[in-house]
Amino acid sequence: MELIYEKSVPGRRGVKLPASDVPPAPPLPEGLLRTEPAGLAEVSELDLVRHFTNLSRLNFSVDTNFYPLGSCTMKYNAKVLENAATLFAPFHPMTALLPGGGEHCQGSLGMLYDLGQMLADITGMDEVTTQPLAGAHGEMTGILLISAYHRARGNKKKYVVVPDSSHGTNPASATIAGYEIVTVPTAPYGDMDLELFRQAMSDEVAAVMMTCPNTLGLFNPHIKEICDIAHSFGALMYYDGANLNAIMGKVKPGDVGFDVVHVNLHKTFGTPHGGGGPGAGPVGVKKALIPFLPQPRIDMDDEGTFVLQTSRPDSIGRAANFFGNFGIMVRAYAYIIMLGREGLIQVSEQAVLNANYIKERLKPYYDLPYDQTCMHECVFSAARQLAHGVHAIDIAKFLIDRGYHPPTVYFPLIVKEAIMIEPTETESKAAMDAFIDVMIEAARTAGSDPQALLDAPLTMPVSRLDETKAAREQHVCCLG
Ligand SMILES: *Cc1c(COP(=O)(O)O)cnc(C)c1O
Repeated sequence: MELIYEKSVPGRRGVKLPASDVPPAPPLPEGLLRTEPAGLAEVSELDLVRHFTNLSRLNFSVDTNFYPLGSCTMKYNAKVLENAATLFAPFHPMTALLPGGGEHCQGSLGMLYDLGQMLADITGMDEVTTQPLAGAHGEMTGILLISAYHRARGNKKKYVVVPDSSHGTNPASATIAGYEIVTVPTAPYGDMDLELFRQAMSDEVAAVMMTCPNTLGLFNPHIKEICDIAHSFGALMYYDGANLNAIMGKVKPGDVGFDVVHVNLHKTFGTPHGGGGPGAGPVGVKKALIPFLPQPRIDMDDEGTFVLQTSRPDSIGRAANFFGNFGIMVRAYAYIIMLGREGLIQVSEQAVLNANYIKERLKPYYDLPYDQTCMHECVFSAARQLAHGVHAIDIAKFLIDRGYHPPTVYFPLIVKEAIMIEPTETESKAAMDAFIDVMIEAARTAGSDPQALLDAPLTMPVSRLDETKAAREQHVCCLG
């Protein structure tokens, strides 16, 4: 692609501004004045529009193509949710903190309050804070709540237990919150080995963090027993519900025995995500942890007015400013209201059905290390293709040439050459069939013409990048 500077013609202009009729500003100090012109591209408006429009078309998005990035839930998000977020935009909840401000934003406070109640209902928790700004932030907040709970009881606990099939953020968040990590390996049935878990437990364990379904897309058959064992040691159970889209309306983590849950609004509840945009990771807790929740808390007084509680002595403090990412909350609220109970159940059923459909159809072509009914995603291995010198990354690059965002590769770490596919509930059978055909073509090509996979992608402005370097040294020349 041509760079905007290469289109530059001296003297060419996109807009001409009339001569200023505003008195000139006082002169800037000599030292701050530019000594040479800024060297901006000089182009017509049309050249500029084409440049940025073409740049934007290099972006990959759910609005343009199928995006089966496992664990990330890149589903289509209805545009009506964006409308809802725009409607609320003028009512910034920060007004609630101004003197008498609460009366000017009852609608915003009420929305946050209702959303908390709905999420508490969906997860089986007693109260929810909507403050955390992402899934990992929710985890850290949740572990800090657990830490405060134990400290209030005079217990100095040292460890957090995580299965090796948990999301990588789990051990990271628990470490940041000050705990040492005990990792439990996965049993052949695809989740934490129950016997090794028993051995890992002691009175010094503060919490057990379960990603559920785990990163293999599997639901732990022993989840209730794990909760009971943990509780018998005085440990609390943490549920990583980033991918609640697999179980919503089917199972409430609180009913199973979990004490703390976070959910990713930007995966399950209708916010487009990817590209590092804003998210939200509300945290729900059982009664015993309510005193420690972040403040301010939104409460309803006897007259039905929403009020802020700002002086709760045991609170861990603020998790975020401005009640969290407010716009994301509006989208989630609209999403839940729009779909209703039956709709949310249908989301989970369809997400799970779609993942199992892809799993069954691709099973003859790729190794499936944990061959059982999956939840919202399935994890293959490219081990068979590796025999021809083709890695998971080569299959991923091949898919790009065919117009697909690759599935997640090399995650989870416990599967060699992992290919993790999450179709989400919003894809049609026709869209999935077309993707499956390309995955089958990739598997066949690995056998017949492996070099073709190693050469991919051929259709992109750049081919294979040093991904670490590309992320750290972003430079416009990459597009040259
Ligand atoms: C995405 C994800 C997270 C982290 O969420 P962020 O919003 O990216 O911080 C945690 N756990 C699981 C299982 C996830 O899929």
